[in-house]
Amino acid sequence: MILKSESDKRMDSKSIDPNRKMVGHVRDLTGQTFGRLTVIKRMPYNTKDRKAMWLCKCECGGYREVMGRNLLAGHTKSCGCLYDEEWERRRKINEQYKDNIYSVWCGIKKRCYTTNNRNYLRYGGRGIKMCEEWRTNPNAFIDWALANGYKKGLTIDRIDNDGDYCPENCQILTKGENARKARPHYQVGDASLTTHEISKAIGKRKTYMYDLVSRLGKKEAIERINIQLKERGLHEIAI
Ligand SMILES: [Zn+2]
Repeated sequence: MILKSESDKRMDSKSIDPNRKMVGHVRDLTGQTFGRLTVIKRMPYNTKDRKAMWLCKCECGGYREVMGRNLLAGHTKSCGCLYDEEWERRRKINEQYKDNIYSVWCGIKKRCYTTNNRNYLRYGGRGIKMCEEWRTNPNAFIDWALANGYKKGLTIDRIDNDGDYCPENCQILTKGENARKARPHYQVGDASLTTHEISKAIGKRKTYMYDLVSRLGKKEAIERINIQLKERGLHEIAI
């Protein structure tokens, strides 16, 4: 972030003594360009600590008096508009993240509490809740997410899949990491299979086992699927 240097801040305050005469030899900066600033002329006074001041015109049309030292060192590159633009740019990025993470918060809340939400059965329907603080205050959730490195494209993951949405049980993962986690492997004979593969083995649609686990819990789902595996003469899922 571009910040005003200490000396500029001093310059901004009333530290200039108009009665002080110029002393010593000063390098002429007239006509030179520093960032967006072009030096027009030297001011007829110095700062209290005898530093030369220069009147500059900014690309945006604004004017600013700057200490020569700050021009040469690259501390001051605009009338202040650069700083304002950078500030605005960062504010917009933050707003985008906030909009996005707010919609994430809405999604979680719906999954947990809105009974006609299409994912409710897998969340609220299984007793998964949001902690009181996150449920009642989206900003608490947003602050947690941003502090933990949330960016657009990342997902909020519950570490314990049967646990709630709360700071202790949540982490931020990439979509790829989350997808791998969402496809647990089960030991079937010698093979390690995903729920999709097991569902296909018993002639069901690929989300069959996943939905069954969501609805009945792991233990009962595996019992049911094992019956079907057995009927087909296949290995059963090791529990
Ligand atoms: Zn400017």
